[in-house]
Amino acid sequence: MADNPSIMMKADEYLLHNYSRQPVALLRGEGAYVWDAQGKRYLDFMGGVATCALGHCHPQLVEVAKRQLELLWHASNHFHTQPQVELAQKLAKASGFPKAAVFFCNSGAEANEAMLKLARRVHKDRGNPERYEVISFEGSFHGRTLATVAATGQEKHKQGFEPLPTGFIHVPFGDIGALEAAITPRTAAILVEPIQGESGVREAPAGFLKALSQLCEVRGLLLLVDEIQTGIGRTGEFLGFQHEGVLPSAFSLAKSLSNGLPIGAMVCHAELAASLPPGSHGSTFGGNPVATAVGSAVVDILLQEGMLGEVARKGEVFQQRLLETQRRFPKFIKEVRGRGLLKGIEFYFPIGPTLAFCREASLLAIPAGENTVRFAPSLLLEERELEEGMVAFERALSQL
Ligand SMILES: *Cc1c(COP(=O)(O)O)cnc(C)c1O
Repeated sequence: MADNPSIMMKADEYLLHNYSRQPVALLRGEGAYVWDAQGKRYLDFMGGVATCALGHCHPQLVEVAKRQLELLWHASNHFHTQPQVELAQKLAKASGFPKAAVFFCNSGAEANEAMLKLARRVHKDRGNPERYEVISFEGSFHGRTLATVAATGQEKHKQGFEPLPTGFIHVPFGDIGALEAAITPRTAAILVEPIQGESGVREAPAGFLKALSQLCEVRGLLLLVDEIQTGIGRTGEFLGFQHEGVLPSAFSLAKSLSNGLPIGAMVCHAELAASLPPGSHGSTFGGNPVATAVGSAVVDILLQEGMLGEVARKGEVFQQRLLETQRRFPKFIKEVRGRGLLKGIEFYFPIGPTLAFCREASLLAIPAGENTVRFAPSLLLEERELEEGMVAFERALSQL
């Protein structure tokens, strides 16, 4: 059997070096745990990149995927499939929109692309072709395609890829005044994450989404919410914007929608959907039967009575426990942030060595920006597993 070093050597030789991968080759997973190629067990506090919301290889999801694999793998969007319409119906209902329309794709960036294209077409159809600009926020992350890189508010993701598509403006996150000042007759939409995940797990100030929603209403703008990291129960509500009781024009999903199988979705109000008529947009694999069948089961499980409340409760226990750790290591930890089971622990220094000591202590995590450790474990994490992870984390910190 291939061991960690031989897999890593091949990675070094044959893969593009666009990631600084941690020196672990993962072989299998079960619930909140993963095993590497040499049989070492780790508690996985990241679940992919916040993708395995219900833990690794959830038995019910494995069953659904197997059944669908034996039935039909792919049908394309030239035909109808039941898993796709079922998931669409569930997402439409969970959105709280009076009537919603869903577009399926394969990743977060594609879901955001669909929202951006929708925003431009909606304004064209309303007779305002000059309205094509999208305002997003400094520190945001919206994907790696050229348009979503242009929408992303971090220079490091843009360098060397210019010229980028035009029509993207950035203002400080949480600053309503700056946003208002940036709106012009060209503005089409505002694109926002309820919590900026990639750049450090930064929450919008309370009331910010509500203020954005009101501003969009008054100024005739679309409000586009990127729920790729915050959606599907991660923050203790099904969708991040539901904490503030707002209804955006559209939102995007991906990461944990199918518990780690590739999928993306754009959900919009039904009356906007006419702006993307037949032929205007598409995806070969989008709405794949296996991915949507699993997504459907994920949504069913998460919307069971009490599930989201339990995520919120565990998130609070996690928060208190992290604050305790901060008190024990005040010279290391600057701030503990996040909501539900999405946490950012900001250090006073880069976290490479911290993550290495975490691995030694059998705990896996990934960064969110240079100085922040990100935790986004399985939403089914048990309290004893949470404590086990925190003991490992503190063991790692005591090695620093
Ligand atoms: C991960 C992420 C994306 C990009 O998703 P991909 O599936 O990698 O294309 C976009 N927005 C947010 C908020 C994300 O967390």
